[in-house]
Amino acid sequence: MTEPGPRNSSVSRDEAMAVAEAARESEWEHPSFAAELFMGRFRPDLIFPYPLQNDADKKIGDEFLGRLELFLREHLDPDEVDRTHEIPVETIKGLAELGCFAMKIPKSYGGLGLSQVNYNRAVALVASYCGSTAVWLSAHQSIGVPQPLKLFGTEAQKKKYFPLFAKGFISAFALTEPDVGSDPARMATTATPNEDKSEWTINGDKLWCTNGPVADLIAVMARTPDRIVGGKARRQITAFIVERDRPGIEVIHRCEFMGLNGIQNGLLRFTNVKVPAENILWEEGKGLKLALVTLNTGRLTLPAACVGMAKQCLHWVREWSNERVQWGAPIGRHESIAQKIGWMASTTFAMEAVTYYASALADRGDADIRLEAALAKMFCSEAAWRIADETVQIRGGRGYETSRSLRARGEKAIPAERALRDARINTIIEGSSEIMRLFIAREAVDPHMRLAGDIFKPGVSLSEKFRMAGRAARFYTTWYPALWVHTAWPPKYMATAGPLAKHLRFAHRQTRKLARTIFHAMARFGPSLEKHQAVLNRIVDIGSELFAISAAVSYARAMVEKNPKDKTPIDLADLFCRQSRRRVRALGCAIWCHDDARTYRLARNVLDGKMAWLEAGAIGETP
Ligand SMILES: Cc1cc2nc3c(=O)[nH]c(=O)nc-3n(C[C@H](O)[C@H](O)[C@H](O)COP(=O)(O)OP(=O)(O)OC[C@H]3O[C@@H](n4cnc5c(N)ncnc54)[C@H](O)[C@@H]3O)c2cc1C
Repeated sequence: MTEPGPRNSSVSRDEAMAVAEAARESEWEHPSFAAELFMGRFRPDLIFPYPLQNDADKKIGDEFLGRLELFLREHLDPDEVDRTHEIPVETIKGLAELGCFAMKIPKSYGGLGLSQVNYNRAVALVASYCGSTAVWLSAHQSIGVPQPLKLFGTEAQKKKYFPLFAKGFISAFALTEPDVGSDPARMATTATPNEDKSEWTINGDKLWCTNGPVADLIAVMARTPDRIVGGKARRQITAFIVERDRPGIEVIHRCEFMGLNGIQNGLLRFTNVKVPAENILWEEGKGLKLALVTLNTGRLTLPAACVGMAKQCLHWVREWSNERVQWGAPIGRHESIAQKIGWMASTTFAMEAVTYYASALADRGDADIRLEAALAKMFCSEAAWRIADETVQIRGGRGYETSRSLRARGEKAIPAERALRDARINTIIEGSSEIMRLFIAREAVDPHMRLAGDIFKPGVSLSEKFRMAGRAARFYTTWYPALWVHTAWPPKYMATAGPLAKHLRFAHRQTRKLARTIFHAMARFGPSLEKHQAVLNRIVDIGSELFAISAAVSYARAMVEKNPKDKTPIDLADLFCRQSRRRVRALGCAIWCHDDARTYRLARNVLDGKMAWLEAGAIGETP
């Protein structure tokens, strides 16, 4: 039910969609568990056996993490970072000497050459201790210059820049602008070529650029001259590697936030900044696609950081819930708190399962993880926020008190409130939860759009419509009835999942139901389905739960196979699945039974000021 943006918008909704569609990866070269799931095909073979880290890679990671942990404990005080809004220069130097700014740089270029799994483990470790430091590292490596350079750089670019990161050079990624957030079509920063296109001149402002104020190299997205496609001008966005010492780059403002006080994040201004053509990443006009492809794996670091934070919260909560006695018993024995602890532990387990499943696949390179990474990002960032919130609740008044204040009066300095503040950003950056749901929904309906979507498009000839309708009819007459055939009866999946088989059977059945629901929603709403975001959100959330159930079961089985004496992973997965199944059922009911239209109408009335009287009594605008 989304409607076109404000009248003064210089880019129409259709233009914005066209830019996003042009940047979208439309092909699926490799299989994807999640993509299959949305098509009603439950494929345990794509998620079993769980891709546990092999011993050799684990050893490399363990050794590096050991050194990193020692360094952090000795040289970084996260409370001081939070208080002073600075990470000491010496600490950054020490991290660079450890190779932290070259974790993902191949060894042949002087980097550590860590796998995605080890890199994510390292960021998770840092995030469990100091969110700001984790963001320094991940903004640099997950979205900054190293990742797109690795994927799309020329050999000359790699030779020039990779070794610099091994020396501690820091990078940033500049896409967002004051008027450009989730919708890059409105990009105002321009890059204009000289006559022979050997040099480009960048002008514009980039907002919230993490590491921007201190970066040596910045990946800058800028609008380049339109290209004519089918007689129409198509907006082009191109990515450039910009060296920070080029004349014309200014830090206009260092931004401050509710959390992550130690990050260096700023509003940067580019005024006639000259960049040689050899600094174009990939190709002219490929900037947005580059950003999206980079984020496919880059995005995995964020859920890993959430896992690190969730583990830390669990640790604080376990200690406190045993230690704190109220009403004659440790608070962890009171049912309300015990329920929270059970949920936190089982959810942390599922977060770890989805994150490291997708990370291992990124290392293997034989699967398409764009949906899995997006699902992991969405699921983990939302869960981590709730986990941090429950941690504050369980710590009671101490949860709201700063660790500095706790320490000053002789208590253990547990920074639960800092964790809550730091966790909040994760549902906004690197694709907000709303945009992640739209992205996943777009991919979920894509196979149907390919088959039948163009039938409704204006300008498609009648004969073409008939051809498409024939093709769609042939597909749906076999695909749709098959979705009603119930094959997931006991003892199916006993050999694969043992005591957790029932959860896999549930996921199998619900996968088919989910695909039917998508089909019914398309039949009911037609092309306007994309505007029914609330319906699509529920579809995506069901898919997310089914993915998490499958990953958690697979992870638990692999862990128990490795260490048969410890059955606790089964308990964690079992509880997660039970809770998740309840959520799936509720979401399923709400697909067709909801107040969406009423809520939308009411929101419109609120926006039109018809209920402004409700705001009376509040001061309103701050001066
Ligand atoms: C601490 C921090 C660090 C950051 N680091 C970087 C960085 O290093 N580089 C960089 O380029 N950017 C960075 N950003 C920017 C960040 O990526 C953006 O904040 C994010 O993309 C969202 O954009 P926006 O804030 O302009 O929100 P908007 O796009 O204005 O959206 C506002 C709200 O509307 C929702 N929304 C928007 N469009 C739709 C839609 N079509 N349907 C439904 N809901 C919608 C959004 O989800 C959000 O809830 C950072 C931001 C912060 C706060």
